[in-house]
Amino acid sequence: PVAIDWDALRQDFPVLAREVHGKPLVYFDSANTSQKPRRVIDITDAFYREHNANISRSVHTLGMEATEAYEAARKKLAAFLNVRGEDLVLTSGTTQAINLVAYSYALPRLTAGDVIVLSRMEHHANIVPWQLIAERTGAKIRVAEITETGELDLPALYAQLTPEVKILGLTQVSNVLGTVNPVADICREARRRGIATVIDGSQAVPHRPVDIAAIGCDFYAFTGHKMLGPTGTGALWARREHLDAMPPFFGGGEMIREVRFEKTVFNDPPHKFEAGTPNIAGVIGLGAAVEYLDQIGMAAIEAREQELLAYATTRLSAIPGLRIFGAAQEKAAVVSFLVDGAHAHDLATLLDLEGIAVRSGHHCAHPLMQHFGVAATCRASFAFYNRFDEIDRLAVAIEKARSLLG
Ligand code: PMP
Repeated sequence: PVAIDWDALRQDFPVLAREVHGKPLVYFDSANTSQKPRRVIDITDAFYREHNANISRSVHTLGMEATEAYEAARKKLAAFLNVRGEDLVLTSGTTQAINLVAYSYALPRLTAGDVIVLSRMEHHANIVPWQLIAERTGAKIRVAEITETGELDLPALYAQLTPEVKILGLTQVSNVLGTVNPVADICREARRRGIATVIDGSQAVPHRPVDIAAIGCDFYAFTGHKMLGPTGTGALWARREHLDAMPPFFGGGEMIREVRFEKTVFNDPPHKFEAGTPNIAGVIGLGAAVEYLDQIGMAAIEAREQELLAYATTRLSAIPGLRIFGAAQEKAAVVSFLVDGAHAHDLATLLDLEGIAVRSGHHCAHPLMQHFGVAATCRASFAFYNRFDEIDRLAVAIEKARSLLG
């Protein structure tokens, strides 16, 4: 294989050339949202400049161009994840995708006494929709706990998958700890017990090769803006039998075949779930993002990010009083940390003054924060466009902040 010139790829991201507080920007918040390469920005811009029209209903040239580009993006996205475009519902992101499963699949099925199992490390997007459904159906939520190193306790989880359990919601990769869960094994165990699996792929798809078919889940949700695509894009993949059986969540234009006041006939999936005018330019941009990722290769991206993670872990671990949360055997390129005596927000504010962007807060994972007994952490999250010398700058800036705050 040809060696990849990562510094050259970095040049594809215009925002990375800017300065913050007079210092070159170090962007370590890609788990929150990734930066966008020029190709994605340009194709989105070109859509509005050269093709802008609504999709699906138009026979005029612009309308057909828009429809073709939109559907081509769906196909690219599906192929990238080894599934069929017909089974991929385009959404505004993971949140909408999981809500779609909750309201269209779970709400009509669950009754009092049923159980939904969720892991301790879920993002609020894979907790709150289930709580809303539980309230309305009388179902209960059961928590799959994690170990000291931030990994799922698998024997305990399997023991929790009793006959009352109807749904298991699980993130593939933790946005706080970086823990990579063995989702294929878990889905196999769940399937054997007749439990539907809802996998949150938000932090997996941007950082490692993902083959949804090989995972063997029932539902897979992910978001476009963390994988170099525009905000307001994402998708839900579901097994065809579920898509066929599920009633639509939103009603309106685009999702119907025929509307009469007596009765409406819905369009086939995935269109049945895509009411209204979608984020057309965004989806086309997401298609370009997929092409871009594919060209580099997800295995190469994963390997690069693992090197950055190893370096960051070594550098940050050497700082006295710095605690890293999560030490899973298989971990994505995320380092959550706290420094003794320093509040996460104060630390992040001082880092910002050095031009370094890290996230501080609860990372939409309150139950996980409660597990560790902290209110917030700082999180440095990496992408392939980051450099080793940026990690050096982070380490130096944390040392400096430590002396100021301590
Ligand atoms: N799940 C995980 C694991 C995430 O990291 C995020 C984004 N922080 C989400 C869900 C929600 O994604 P979105 O806001 O794009 O819907």
